[in-house]
Amino acid sequence: MVDDPKESVLLKEGLFTYPALPGEAPRLLGSRCSACQAYFFPKRYLCPHCHKDGTMEEIRLSNKGTLYTYCIVQVAPEGFTAPYVLGYVDLPEGPRVYALITGIEPSALRIGMELELVIEPIRQDPEGRNILGYKFCPI
Ligand SMILES: [Zn+2]
Repeated sequence: MVDDPKESVLLKEGLFTYPALPGEAPRLLGSRCSACQAYFFPKRYLCPHCHKDGTMEEIRLSNKGTLYTYCIVQVAPEGFTAPYVLGYVDLPEGPRVYALITGIEPSALRIGMELELVIEPIRQDPEGRNILGYKFCPI
C-alpha cells in the first residue's frame, strides 16, 4: 500500500532536471560533443561519431520537439495500463527521444505535431512510490 502517495522517486538520476527551477520548464539532460557538435540523449561519455576523448559536455536539451512516429500499446507489461502510446520525438538539436506520449487521445495523434516535455509518474515501485519519468504531451 501507499504510505505517502506524494512520495516519488526518479526513474533514473541524470536523465532530466527535477524539480525544475522556479519558472523554468523541465529539461532532458543530454550531451554535446565539442569536437563534432553532435547532440545525444541520454548522455554519452564518448562520442560515437568522432570517438574523441574528453569532448562530451552535459547540456540541457530543448523541452519541445516533433512527433516522428508512434505506436499504441494494447498489451501492457506489469505496472502499466493499456492502451498507452509510445513514440519517437525529434528534438531541434537532433536527438530522437523514445518516450511515452500523454495528454491526448491516440486517434488525435499526428506525425509531425509539436510536443512538450512533462515529468510525470510512469508507474509505481514495489513500495508504492510514484516513479517519475519523462513523457511528451501536445503543446
Ligand atoms: Zn564527436
